[in-house]
Amino acid sequence: MARRAEGGTLFASSYGKVTSMCVDPMEKKPLYNYMPGKRCLSIGGAGCNMRCLHCQNFAISSIPTGRRRSTYVSPEDLVAHCRREGLGVIAFTYNEPMIWYEYIRDVAAVDPDIRIVLVTNGLACEALLRDLCHIADAMNIDVKGFTEEFYTRECGAHLRDVLDSVRIVFSEGVHLELTYLVIPGLNDSEDEVRAFCSWVASELSSDVPVHFTRFHPDYKLTDVPWTPVETVLRCREIGIEEGLNFVYVGNIIAEGPGDTFCPRCGRPVIRRFGFSVDASELDGSRCSNCGFDLGIVRRRGPRGSAPGRVPGTSVRRTAPGARRVPSRSRHSAIRG
Ligand code: SF4
Repeated sequence: MARRAEGGTLFASSYGKVTSMCVDPMEKKPLYNYMPGKRCLSIGGAGCNMRCLHCQNFAISSIPTGRRRSTYVSPEDLVAHCRREGLGVIAFTYNEPMIWYEYIRDVAAVDPDIRIVLVTNGLACEALLRDLCHIADAMNIDVKGFTEEFYTRECGAHLRDVLDSVRIVFSEGVHLELTYLVIPGLNDSEDEVRAFCSWVASELSSDVPVHFTRFHPDYKLTDVPWTPVETVLRCREIGIEEGLNFVYVGNIIAEGPGDTFCPRCGRPVIRRFGFSVDASELDGSRCSNCGFDLGIVRRRGPRGSAPGRVPGTSVRRTAPGARRVPSRSRHSAIRG
């Protein structure tokens, strides 16, 4: 996506070329433990650094198609539009934000009070990623499967590179949530899902929210059926069995599996149905029943004011390797 201008200077040819813009609930990113019930300005450009056969946004991730339908929006105009909509968060999403590094950096520089959210596949070099960690308030990173074979064959990328990025974002203290798109027959085996959840709990923290989402046939995987709802719900159960405190499902309308439960007393503190959110059982970031601090991010201080904060929880850190033992009472409460 870089071109050489006269005089030899390299520039990003995708800079500021917007293909999609929309006001979204934060839950649509998905971010569930970050500003629940709030809205953000979602924006996407054209192109991607992966080539996923299942791409659900191929009309814009495919560069020639996306480029034809893009409109230039300057960083100043984008921030002004965000403010006119009464919003304080810009989410770079739809296609891959890592290829928009220069634009994201310039948007963030226009107004330090604007919060930046990135929804990304996590494929980035370390220096760029660490720089974005100082700009972004929250990230949702796709972990698209948990085998090298899946990544090489389906995405043209490497799992190890994505996991390295996840570790970096976690260690930098950016609010982090992970999304795993469950594709029938390709990445939905119990062993693979369990290995992923166990990795999150042991290498990161049991408090990192994980979203299992339902696949629909798209792009080059139109011969693969929708993921059965039962499979997605089973993935969530596996996450809970592996000790994760915040496991959600996506692309499914159901009461319960999208709710946030208190890890201590098991009470639902945020109820969700579709994109409707009821956080009335949350007192700040604490459970109104038992007072436990879930570390839900409800508002932010100045950008970058919390270096080293723990994703989803500024109050507790599970040290790498010190995996938390699942609480049986919480599990039964969640399943009930
Ligand atoms: S990373 Fe996302 S946008 Fe890029 S090809 Fe894969 S699914 Fe599409």
